[in-house]
Amino acid sequence: MRIRVLGAAAGGGFPQWNCGCANCADVRRGDPALSPRSQDSIAVSADGDRWVLLNASPDIRSQVEAFPALRPRAPRHSPIAGIVLTNGDLDHVLGLFSLRESQPLVLFATAAVRAGLGANVFLHTLERFDGQLVFRALVPGQPIEACGLELLPFAVAGKRPLHLERLGAPTPEDNIGLVVRDAAGGSVAYVPGAAALDAETRARLESVDVLFFDGTFWSSDELPRLALGRARAEDMAHLPIDGAAGSLAILRQLRTRRKIYTHINNTNPILRLGAPERRAVEDAGIEVAVDGLELAP
Ligand SMILES: [Zn+2]
Ligand SMILES: [Zn+2]
Repeated sequence: MRIRVLGAAAGGGFPQWNCGCANCADVRRGDPALSPRSQDSIAVSADGDRWVLLNASPDIRSQVEAFPALRPRAPRHSPIAGIVLTNGDLDHVLGLFSLRESQPLVLFATAAVRAGLGANVFLHTLERFDGQLVFRALVPGQPIEACGLELLPFAVAGKRPLHLERLGAPTPEDNIGLVVRDAAGGSVAYVPGAAALDAETRARLESVDVLFFDGTFWSSDELPRLALGRARAEDMAHLPIDGAAGSLAILRQLRTRRKIYTHINNTNPILRLGAPERRAVEDAGIEVAVDGLELAP
């Protein structure tokens, strides 16, 4: 299997357009301790020919251009053979609307995420002719085939997208993680958003070669402490990295061979090489994803 990190930042990207926090200001002026990151997505492929994207970032156009394997090989063509959505948050779905131009698309989503997308009239731009947009239903616990890969979706504690919060009740299908396996035995788990990590999910995450996990916030009060908002990490359905019940304490115990934080918010101190928080993550044997990282489990 081939894996490429297309974007390793949380919603807003790094730097974020309206943010002047220390991280964003320093990365703008070229501080070598910091690297810009685009919004969350990874690409996976069984054969290096056809690719499946996990999430469709608002930065998808530049992500495709930055990775030759995703560029067209004919006057009208795309190696992107499928797109899988882990939830309906805008940083995970807005890229879909950059993939119009009458290109057929295969979209894997739970019924809840599909319903949320279907409520938006913009979706019709991907339905210009019969069969342009093919939905394949993800059901937690049920494996499904995609371009020579087996996708196993599983429910992860999360929440509905902000724009849908007032429009319906939460369901376990609002937010999922994925285990992707190829026929040669390679495997990766992708969990860019998690409000909690129960025993069943931990066991699942130990069954793979590579784990990408929610690294949105270092601490619960990251935004309030920087006077950038009142919401705590938990209010946004993200388990913070730090703390007795944080993800670092859990992930360091997992036997998974490679563990990588991704979906990292621009305020997170782990973005800064040499910061004590970054060293704590590295000392626990956990990596911090950057755009362009490639793996072949
Ligand atoms: Zn997100
Ligand atoms: Zn910032």
